[in-house]
Amino acid sequence: MAKYKRILLKLSGESLAAGNGTGIDTNRLNEYAQQIKEIHDLGVEIAIVIGGGNIFRGLAGAGKGFDRVKGDQMGMCATVINSLALSSALDACGVSNQVLTAIRMEPIGEFYTKWKAIAALREGRVVICAAGTGSPYFTTDTGSSLRGVEVEADVMLKGTRVDGVYTADPEKDPKAEKFSEISYDEVLRRNLRVMDTSAIAMCRENGLPIYVFNMDVVGNLKRVIEGEDIGTLVHP
Ligand code: UDP
Repeated sequence: MAKYKRILLKLSGESLAAGNGTGIDTNRLNEYAQQIKEIHDLGVEIAIVIGGGNIFRGLAGAGKGFDRVKGDQMGMCATVINSLALSSALDACGVSNQVLTAIRMEPIGEFYTKWKAIAALREGRVVICAAGTGSPYFTTDTGSSLRGVEVEADVMLKGTRVDGVYTADPEKDPKAEKFSEISYDEVLRRNLRVMDTSAIAMCRENGLPIYVFNMDVVGNLKRVIEGEDIGTLVHP
């Protein structure tokens, strides 16, 4: 039995690069597609936002002399590349899906609207929301909160390479302790790097719970959907 009927799944671009730092690792991509197929088979309605950090980040570009807005637009194009890669991998495993873009770019994908997304979800298609919010100075974390709220998802599942929210960065601090649940306010107060502040605030204001888990372990997405407590719940 699925715990959630409709989800917004946030995938990081960086994870798609696996250990390589940049680019798209096809093994990782196919693993993600398989994991998504598993929960699609359970009848879960799935909207996805994928980042672009494996290709380009506007802020990092600005540090190297790029114009910030153009750099962010490059970052948004990077999310489109990843979205198309994921769409193609889902096609290959027989999962019907549709890419909607926050910036007009037919025929790559139709222009996003809430109603197109919900209609596609109801018809059993996985909806991949590309190009973040369509605006610079945002991240795909905020894009995920926005799309999660808009499509009326029951939860945002934030797939990362760590298995939840910790008191400190577990990759740097061996004493870091994991929360099984935590409030939005506590995340903000402790300045924990779960998602950026605007993304957390948007979830808090609109009552969208966030579940942080390790998406890089194959089978974890299904475990979360079946209610196994393997990550951290961020909620009121
Ligand atoms: N971006 C943007 N507006 C958005 C979403 C993304 O300008 O609404 C740009 C921004 O430059 C960001 C890049 O796209 O750095 C890639 O997204 P993100 O850093 O969120 O990717 P992730 O870290 O999840 O791989």
